[in-house]
Parts: sequence; structure tokens; C-alpha cells
Amino acid sequence: MTKLNKLEVFLIEHIKAHGSIPLGAFMTHALCHPSYGYYQERDPFGVDGDFITAPEVSQMFGEVIGAWVVDTWFQMGKPERFNLIECGPGRGTLMKDALRGVSKVHDFMDAVNINLVENSRTLRKKQEESLKEYNVKWWDDVAEIQGDIPVIIIGNEFLDALPVEHLMRTDCGWQQKDIRLKEGGGFSFGWSNASEDLMSLLPDKTISHEIYEVSPARYEFTTQCARSISANGGAALLVDYGYTSLCKGDTVQAIQDHEYASVLSHVGQCDITAHVDFCAVLSAAKSMNCCTFPVINQGQFLCDIGMQHRAENLKKCAEEACPADQKEKIVQDITTSFHRLTSSSEMGSLFKVCCFYQGFDFNAAGFCA
Ligand code: SAH
Repeated sequence: MTKLNKLEVFLIEHIKAHGSIPLGAFMTHALCHPSYGYYQERDPFGVDGDFITAPEVSQMFGEVIGAWVVDTWFQMGKPERFNLIECGPGRGTLMKDALRGVSKVHDFMDAVNINLVENSRTLRKKQEESLKEYNVKWWDDVAEIQGDIPVIIIGNEFLDALPVEHLMRTDCGWQQKDIRLKEGGGFSFGWSNASEDLMSLLPDKTISHEIYEVSPARYEFTTQCARSISANGGAALLVDYGYTSLCKGDTVQAIQDHEYASVLSHVGQCDITAHVDFCAVLSAAKSMNCCTFPVINQGQFLCDIGMQHRAENLKKCAEEACPADQKEKIVQDITTSFHRLTSSSEMGSLFKVCCFYQGFDFNAAGFCA
């Protein structure tokens, strides 16, 4: 048997004391345990890590999102001060590319308060390094960010990192998935009576013995964002992989070293995520009086907000300025990254973009023809 890691020892003790642990709490410990959680001790991104995200694929991603943020700020009436909040900023690459792209818009740079919501010590250090030229504030939770000024909230692959619960209607009533100790060692899934709090997150019509995936954590996060947007004016742009029509079933997955892994093995050493139910996210935003746009595919969004032009410009710069022996590779890299981010056979359709707002007339770039 492989040696248990410290998080597994912690979870075993917890389960021994309580009999089992709900799926959502298990995911929270696996990812965010203050000492042993997956994100706490490592930088998981890139070829040498476990997975790669859009901002790490190409600088173009952050640059066009930066342009989206500036356009939104213009449409908000150029408020003299506003909070730009990025949730789950990873290495800080998206924010760095976004700010570099718009740093010549002086009024914007004078108006922006940069806020990052991040609970990993290791990644906060990376973000500090990436954004050392800027005045940045860090928070554990979006609800901590106070102030009666407008807000623009952005996030890429943040929602998928928030925990989910699985519910099933059986002859014994609603049950929720938990994790228990397996005889002979290791963890196994089980079911116990569902918490009443989860019932409001279920669809109106349900089929018995089907699994329904719900996320109180995403609901809470989205309502916090939407509450702030409703109170102060502003908009949110959240990019993630997920679905827009009712989906039954289990989408929880673990990734290690760019390969799928078992959710119950090497706990704390794999990224655990679940696909995002964007209907649930938008309905949480509406419940706080925010207006919403229909969710769109990442590929369509990035093309509509000008990524193709950005790619052409970058290629032109490379042709003009790069040494002859590097040109071809750099131009090819730009083409490959553009394809990776926008094509339906890569990240273009699986990843989706959602937007909600309040307090101004908004023709959100990418969402309005
Ligand atoms: N947006 C980045 C990173 C995505 S990974 C990118 O696209 O590259 C998820 C990020 O969310 C990491 O920075 C992780 O540490 C952070 N995170 C996960 N759960 C969190 C939580 N509950 N509160 C705050 N940050 C969290």
C-alpha cells in the first residue's frame, strides 16, 4: 500500500470521528485545506504542472479580456474609482496581460483598484511577482471587498474549482453522496440522508435514482458577486467549462499530470473540478436582481471581441522584429494558440462565457451584435 499523505491522514481522522464526509467538504479539503490542500503548496499550471489554462496558453486571452474590461468601464460612464476583482487568478497571468494591454488608458489606470480573491499562499506569491508594478489587494472571499464604488468582476476557471454535491432520490428519500473509509484501506463513495439546505438547488422535476449535481458554493459565490453589482453597479464576466441545459449526472473529475485520475486516490495531489451549470449561476445572479446575457461559447466570444486581430498584429510584430531563426516558430505558436483557444475541437465550445450586470445600459462586447 502506498504511504498516506498528510491530507489523507487528516481526512481519515475526520471520517473516523464523523462516520463520513459530504462530497463538497471532501472537495474543499482536497483543494483548499489551509496546510495540505492541492492549491496550497504548488503551482499546478503549464507543461510541467497538471493542467494548462487559457491565460497560460497565450497572452492574447488576458489582453482581449483587458479590452473588454475597459469597454465595460467606458459604458459604465468612466467612474472615477472602481473595484476590478479577479477571482482565482492562478499565476496572475490574465491580470498581468490585461493591465499591460490597457495601461495606456490613463484615466482607466487612475480609476482602477486591483483586487484578487485567492486562498492559496503559494499562488499569492506568484501573483505578487507577476503584478509587482501594480498596487494590488488580496482577499479570501469576494464578500470581504467593501466600498460603495462600482465593480467589474472577472474569473477564468474559478467556478469549476468550487465544490459540488450529488443528490439522488431513492425509496428512502433524497440522499447525498459522501466519502467513507473502505474496508482494507482507502476511500469509497456512499450515500446518506441529504441536507435540507440542498433541496432548493434541485430542478423542479426530477427522476428517481438519477444523480443531480448542485453547488451551494457556486450559488453563494455568485449571489455575493451579484449583490455587490446590484448595490454598486457593475458587471461580471466568468469563463469556465460547463453546460447550459439541464444535465443529470456526475461531472466531478480529477486531473494529475495532464491525465484523468481517480477522485479518491492521491487526494490533495490532483486537481478536482466539476463542470459548471451556467443556468444555476445565472439564476443565482437574477435572484439578486442582476440582468444577464445568454451564455456563449468561448470561441465565439474571443473572436467577437477581437482576438483574431490581436493574433494578426502579434504575427506582424514577430515578422518585423524577431530574429530570422525564431520568426517561423513564433508565428506558428500564435496560430496554434489561437486555434487552441477558439476552435470547437479544442477549448472553443466546451468553455463558455457568462455575464451579468446591473446599474447601467450595457451592450456587453461579445454578447451583443
Ligand atoms: N484563473 C487562473 C487559475 C485557475 S485555477 C487561470 O486561468 O490560470 C483556480 C484558481 O482559483 C487558483 O488560483 C486557486 O488557488 C483559486 N481558488 C480555488 N478555490 C478557491 C476558493 N475557494 N477561494 C479562493 N480562491 C480559490
